[in-house]
Amino acid sequence: MPPLGEYLPYLEAIWENRILTNRGPYLRQLEEELKLYLGVPHISVLANGTVALMAALATLDIAGEVITTPFTFAATAHALKWCGLTPVFVDVEPDSLTIDPEKIEAAITPRTSAIMAVHCYGYTCDTARIKEIADRHELKVIYDAAHCFGVRDNGGSVLRHGDLSVLSFHATKVFNTFEGGAVVCPSAEIKDHVDRIANFGLNSDGVGTELGLNAKLNEVSAAFGLLQLKYLDQSLASRERIDREYRERFSNAVGIRCLQPRGYDTSNYSYFPIMLHEQCKISSVELSLELNRAGVYARRYFYPLLSEMEPYRSQAEVSTMHGTPVAAVASERVLCLPIYPGLDIENVNAIADVVIRCTQ
Ligand SMILES: *Cc1c(COP(=O)(O)O)cnc(C)c1O
Repeated sequence: MPPLGEYLPYLEAIWENRILTNRGPYLRQLEEELKLYLGVPHISVLANGTVALMAALATLDIAGEVITTPFTFAATAHALKWCGLTPVFVDVEPDSLTIDPEKIEAAITPRTSAIMAVHCYGYTCDTARIKEIADRHELKVIYDAAHCFGVRDNGGSVLRHGDLSVLSFHATKVFNTFEGGAVVCPSAEIKDHVDRIANFGLNSDGVGTELGLNAKLNEVSAAFGLLQLKYLDQSLASRERIDREYRERFSNAVGIRCLQPRGYDTSNYSYFPIMLHEQCKISSVELSLELNRAGVYARRYFYPLLSEMEPYRSQAEVSTMHGTPVAAVASERVLCLPIYPGLDIENVNAIADVVIRCTQ
């Protein structure tokens, strides 16, 4: 976190100009800086990632069924439900834990209108295969890129893929505005449409043109985002050091493997997921309890699968139709170890010691 004193000038400026929200000067400046930082053509910065997903779905006028995965945070499917859509869960690939393109076509029905794929842990989906399938079946593609801030593949920002990509700027994400989110858009027209939906569906004359919601980011959050952005490179460098240390410590581990980005993709080191082998002498639940005893809080991202959670588990017709064995295994065996800028290397080693002692 930036030093407290650096927040104050931003608050004073807001106090001076008395613009608290509704696309104020800090919000506009944040959008400009993020466009440059991320290398994307247009971005609409909104109140949180969940409403950003909803605004994206509304902008593309998605209806009926949407193909997604159960190995993600609840917000992915909840956004679909709030838009009156039916999530259809298909399995993930064993390495990237992102949607398995091989499984998509079997889940397409006459009611399918889109694919909402998640770049899980910032590891990118197989965007080329997804595009090919979506084009062939005339489906829209929305990427839940909540974990993907700043990630690039060999063609540039991964946020360029799909019809729209959605980010989260929640406090737990690599870049945050305390609460916040964004929709990355390919054109100014689409950005304007997203902004209109985020402002109650009203046009610049205040006339309602469609169903909207309130997804506006306030000026305090936008200002704090600008401040966080100044510290981002520093924060990424310290995440990278932690990532490197864990990988070195686990390079000869027999009971676990470290997950990693696809091919030449960059990482933003937002998570450090380890996968316990089937023969590992301890379960992920027991390992997380052992870590707790040492004062360490690892997270079982993502357990349980969304298809096992309400309200989805009771919709047997959609959630159990396509088995998701790979996601089920990942959900049982993945544990995300602590990784954040304030974590020092000594503690990283202490965490690695516990993991190695318990799994070898
Ligand atoms: C954090 C997250 C979201 C939701 O973002 P909020 O800003 O918390 O609403 C959506 N999808 C995934 C995969 C997330 O991790």
